[in-house]
Amino acid sequence: MSEQIKSSIDYRSFYTRYCQAQARISSNRLQSLCPIPHHAHSGRGNPSLSVDLERGLFHCFSRDEGGDCIRFYELMHSVGFVQAVNEIARELGLSASRRETSLIKRAEPDADAVEYQGEPLAPAGLAEMCEAFLAACREEEQTEGRNYLARRGIDELSMRRTGVTYFPRRAYRRVMGRMLEAFPLEELKLSGLFNQQAHLTFYRHRLLFPFYVERRALYLQARTTASGVEPRWHNMRGHVPALYNVDSLEDLRSRDVVYLVEGFTDTLTLLTHGFAAVGLVGAGGMKEEWLAPLGRFSVVAALDPDSAGERAVARYQEMFGARGMRLAQLELPTDVNEFFQQHPTAPLEFRLLTEAALENARDDG
Ligand SMILES: [Zn+2]
Repeated sequence: MSEQIKSSIDYRSFYTRYCQAQARISSNRLQSLCPIPHHAHSGRGNPSLSVDLERGLFHCFSRDEGGDCIRFYELMHSVGFVQAVNEIARELGLSASRRETSLIKRAEPDADAVEYQGEPLAPAGLAEMCEAFLAACREEEQTEGRNYLARRGIDELSMRRTGVTYFPRRAYRRVMGRMLEAFPLEELKLSGLFNQQAHLTFYRHRLLFPFYVERRALYLQARTTASGVEPRWHNMRGHVPALYNVDSLEDLRSRDVVYLVEGFTDTLTLLTHGFAAVGLVGAGGMKEEWLAPLGRFSVVAALDPDSAGERAVARYQEMFGARGMRLAQLELPTDVNEFFQQHPTAPLEFRLLTEAALENARDDG
């Protein structure tokens, strides 16, 4: 089992869960104040914990103690090897019971190749279904979802404002039953909420991110909150209908600064810190028809600092330019979430970088 753990665990999310905000990560090495309780570090001074994220090995230089992820878990939770292995395996879904394994199979989303009969659902019907699903989930315990976001520095208010919802595993049958009572199975299948085996497909992906357009939830993407589950994302059938969080633009004044970022985490991170943001699904996901609602704002792109992000910004600057709009570019050393997690003074730095970016865009224009 310990080999199975090592082949499916994501070391980065495993270790950062314990080190959280003060951890620094660069090129596969994590450095942090050491959180191991019996080391009794003062919590000040230099980071003494170093983790090789490639091999999953940690070392505390101050107490000269190190080992693998299982040893780390033993030390963090004061448990023995066997218990550590069992608990990590359970978190990774490796020790699922036979009943659960069969449920994972039956809930599996249909392959892309499965052909569907019938017309696509009209937006109003789709929204009704989406919202019924979200409402049923919201009656269930939301703590796990809230904690998952809190570990990424995202607060509860931002979660509520964007309608992010958690679907607890133990509510699976109950929520599935309610959906089957409320909607014809054929329509549930067309939406992608259900598969050909007549099961709700959101089983392993339980943190739900709705896309609201004109106050209706038209689409859902969901991610797994467990480390090591692939693919990490699952969504309804059909296309992303809009920029994520586009409805929030209505409440803003003209000329306000709006950030264009990648993904849900970065959008929610900025909301948590009082910035206005809309999100793309993937760096290259922008569509021409989504530009119009951005026209009255000062838009600042803060995409990931990788080649996909850079190519996308260059392309979007042309798209904006062709409409007589400007897109400023903010260059961060990391993605937005990491930037805010790593720097205590991030909100201030972010404002300063924004001013510089807007000035640059004015000079270029
Ligand atoms: Zn230590």
